[in-house]
Amino acid sequence: MNELKKNMIFEAEVVDLTHEGQGVVKIDGFPLFVDNALPGEQIEVRVIKVGKNFGFGRVEKILKASPHRVTDISLDYLRTGIADFGHLTYEEQLVYKQKQVVELLKKTAKKKDFPVEPILAAGQTTKYRNKAQVPVREINGQIETGFYRKNSHQLVPISDFYIQHPRIDALVNFIRDFLRKYDNASKIAYNEQTRKGWLRNIVIRRAYHTEEMMLVLVVTSDKFPIDKQAFLSALTTEFKDLKSIQLNINNSDGSFILGKKYLLLYGKSSITDSMLGKRFEISAPAFYQVNTAQAEKLYQTAYEFADLSETDTIVDAYSGIGTIGLCVADQVAQVYGMEVIPAAVENAKLNAKNNELHNTNYVTGKAEQVMPQWLEAGVKPDLIFVDPPRKGLDEQFITAATQMQARAIVYISCNPATFARDVVRFEENGYLLEKVRPVDLFPQTHHIECVGKFIRK
Ligand code: SAH
Repeated sequence: MNELKKNMIFEAEVVDLTHEGQGVVKIDGFPLFVDNALPGEQIEVRVIKVGKNFGFGRVEKILKASPHRVTDISLDYLRTGIADFGHLTYEEQLVYKQKQVVELLKKTAKKKDFPVEPILAAGQTTKYRNKAQVPVREINGQIETGFYRKNSHQLVPISDFYIQHPRIDALVNFIRDFLRKYDNASKIAYNEQTRKGWLRNIVIRRAYHTEEMMLVLVVTSDKFPIDKQAFLSALTTEFKDLKSIQLNINNSDGSFILGKKYLLLYGKSSITDSMLGKRFEISAPAFYQVNTAQAEKLYQTAYEFADLSETDTIVDAYSGIGTIGLCVADQVAQVYGMEVIPAAVENAKLNAKNNELHNTNYVTGKAEQVMPQWLEAGVKPDLIFVDPPRKGLDEQFITAATQMQARAIVYISCNPATFARDVVRFEENGYLLEKVRPVDLFPQTHHIECVGKFIRK
């Protein structure tokens, strides 16, 4: 259907929503993906790109709006993807996420009508993120902080990041305003084209329970183009909750935000938070769940599914700083955990010690390599927790884990598509999906988290 040309305008009904929040319209059966368009809406759409099997369109006019549309949201949050579901009411976001999990289990795992338990909603649906990574750029001679437009490196200046804790926004804006007092914006802000400039990104973490903050300035060099002492003194005077300030040196031209080298400028090298009553040190390179209140609900769901007993040996795979295993270490006999980032494993070991937990064994390594070694060594867990990144589990990992003959495997997933794929692999290896529950960790965004329990056939 390539008679469709750029700039043609049609009236159409939005028939679906993609998993990333774009509306779908069909022009004589040919699908166009359209930002800021919701199912059931009647729109006037302009064709902006035509591909072989699908194209993209832009809303010219909404002729009939969805009753589920949120009208008072800034379009910058949609354009940047900060809140790519922000134009949908929270209730409908939950309905949609629930449906996604059901559909993926049906399509990918051939589980028709699998009874997915109802999604656990968030109490707080904005300002919940405890972490931010904010690019710093010069626009028209002025230093700006904000977020990239989707699929681009064009910065949209933003002061209120909508889903981040306000204290984090305040720190970002304070740094921006401080830097604006200098008249060498092009020396201060990094430029991706010329690869000149100093400050690439501002990375901030704020502990939910203790309120401690960490600032990491991602820079091209440890030489400051501004008055270092004045800057540090302003930061620590204005932000008494700032307990750690670090430089991260990144000279690469790649799109990785963080480089390998950290330099401590002020305070300590990690901040402390607590989850489910246990205390945790979190260092800059380590992963930490970005929505602490909901992550606690997520873990509790995983523990309910696990139904632990005092004699259990458990595995905490993809452990990060050890939160999943350590929160229940005093309820089980033995905890084994592995994680690929060395600094996170150091945190996990220290966290075990600080919480006086002496039955844990955290090691550095790839889960898909460590698990077969443990199998070989005769480790016999009763229960395995897995919490992999978006790409899901490695087949080697699944083979080893299922050979250990644990009574159950509890899978925490941040990507229902790879989760559904892994359901099939588990079933081929003798483990059946018993239950699944989504937990909304990321309100206003398309991201879906879920917990699944597999039991031995
Ligand atoms: N369970 C932790 C971390 C989950 S995020 C928590 O709830 O906070 C996933 C973790 O897996 C990250 O810490 C990441 O560094 C780690 N990871 C990624 N690939 C890995 C691999 N192949 N083997 C082991 N860990 C890996």
